[in-house]
Amino acid sequence: MKEQGIRQRISLEEIIEVLEIIQKASDSYFYVLDLSYDIMMVSQSAVRRFAFPSVHVENCSAVLKEIVHPDDYDELSKDIERCASGKQTLHNMEYRWCSRDKQVVWIECRGTVVISDDNHYLLVGRVREIGKKAKADNVTGLRKEVRFREDIDRILTKNPQAIKYCMRIGIDNFKEINEKDGLDAGDNILHELADCIIETVHSGVDIYRLVADEFMIVDACPESTDKAADIYQCIKRKVAEMVRKKEYTGFYTVSAGVLEQEEEFVGKKSEDILRLTEFALNEAKRNGRNQMALFDRNAYNEYLKRLSIRKAIRLDIANDFHGFQVFYQPIVDANTYKLIGAEALLRWKDEKYGNVSPAVFIPIMEESGLIIPVGRYVLWEAARTCKKWQKTIPDFHVNVNLSYVQIRKSDLMHDVDRCIKEVGIEPNSLVLELTESGYIETDSRIMDLFQELKEKNISLAIDDFGTGYSNMRYLEDISAKTVKIDRSFVLQALENEYDYTVIRYIIDMVHSIGSSVCMEGIEYEHELEKMKRANPDMIQGYLFGKPCSAEEFEEKYLKDSL
Ligand code: C2E
Ligand code: MG
Ligand code: MG
Repeated sequence: MKEQGIRQRISLEEIIEVLEIIQKASDSYFYVLDLSYDIMMVSQSAVRRFAFPSVHVENCSAVLKEIVHPDDYDELSKDIERCASGKQTLHNMEYRWCSRDKQVVWIECRGTVVISDDNHYLLVGRVREIGKKAKADNVTGLRKEVRFREDIDRILTKNPQAIKYCMRIGIDNFKEINEKDGLDAGDNILHELADCIIETVHSGVDIYRLVADEFMIVDACPESTDKAADIYQCIKRKVAEMVRKKEYTGFYTVSAGVLEQEEEFVGKKSEDILRLTEFALNEAKRNGRNQMALFDRNAYNEYLKRLSIRKAIRLDIANDFHGFQVFYQPIVDANTYKLIGAEALLRWKDEKYGNVSPAVFIPIMEESGLIIPVGRYVLWEAARTCKKWQKTIPDFHVNVNLSYVQIRKSDLMHDVDRCIKEVGIEPNSLVLELTESGYIETDSRIMDLFQELKEKNISLAIDDFGTGYSNMRYLEDISAKTVKIDRSFVLQALENEYDYTVIRYIIDMVHSIGSSVCMEGIEYEHELEKMKRANPDMIQGYLFGKPCSAEEFEEKYLKDSL
């Protein structure tokens, strides 16, 4: 049955006149579509954003076909058809348009059919972009990131010197609160914290809610004489007071990252402010949370450098481990000084950064998981080299360093098994070195791995003994074949009789559980003389050779027999 259109005895010109007035105070685009003649009037702002030829559109269906997303066009034309035939008087659709710069834009289009004084069916309505983020936040009543960007960009362009500080505040444990106490509890805390910030800052200071649990304070207010550090302390105290009043039913703390140096504002954009304050806030959290960190340009540059190194490493790995090389350092018998093995030590050379120390690139690879493919590369290289050198020294062994990340995040045992089989070496030619740490006893995966290694006759060495955790008790449990005493501990023992006695006792104890000791970092004859009296089994140090390439190693130590 045909529905009767709303008969409005107004002229098209009158409608357009009214729409032009409303347009000035709105973000939406308005339109009047003459369904009888397929012509349309749209707002000037819509012409700017979408490929309408002008505000007067002839052949409207053809033009819309170009603007509406191809997958949505059919549905739209059916809906318009229903309006044109009088079957419906309301048009209400959410679908996609394509902007002049070829972006997909989600829109909500609403319209009402009216019949003009000259009996044309007109669809009159508005189009709103729904992908645009809301500018205000209903939870806290504050303005949101979109507004922050608009406001700060205006200040940064006109008068960056006016900004005293930008403070990004984050709740330290917001995820836990949401998970444990529910989303309402989370919203309450956001609301509470927002009030707390509003009460603390001068009334002319701007506050925004950014993503999830973060707020931004921008003090560009001429009347305010506040200092960022005082504001943070005050907010922190208020939060603690609120938590106490609620008898710790919802416990939380806040951290802050602050940008206040003038040079960090001049010539900057909102993205920069977001990035730099985010870095400072992360620093505060990294330093232990519940504190404020001032943006530190040097630390930020270091961070950028680490990112750039990580990127270069990633590219090199993809490029068949270009730039990586495994060096070998001799390990000798402490009594005969005969060569019995070598430690495989990774090297990485980059075009931009030159030779980078393992102390720098290993942690970067650990953070990013890149140590897993590179660790495999070292394992295979070392195993192949060991097999080759066993032609000269049949019981030669190679030590390979392992990272905890490899144990936790990869199937290390599978890799080791595969490597031994593929390369064809005896399992006991491989010694896996693991830095001593408190993890060893507490992580069941590590204990399981040790058990499996033992069953498969692969040896384990505890590396850097004496630098950290140094607990004798677990050495027996994990049946390490070797304990490697770190150079720093050896140096202390050389200078200090007490430490020397400690090392002697440790060596005796290690022997008593059937393990052997390798002393690392012996550089000079006099060091060797003294440390030998402590009775180590193996020695590794510059005195017997620095780490070098496989070719150099062969040249120096295996020349005659290979
Ligand atoms: P580490 O496993 O304790 O290796 C011994 C380090 O001491 C090596 O440093 C070696 O060059 C150095 N060294 C040996 N003898 C002497 C000496 O007489 N005097 C001095 N001053 N130093 C000596 P390098 O090659 O810089 O490696 C540092 C650390 O990087 C290694 O310590 C190890 O923890 C890590 N690393 C190296 N390669 C790898 C690898 O392939 N995988 C993993 N996960 N870590 C590795
Ligand atoms: Mg080592
Ligand atoms: Mg070591």
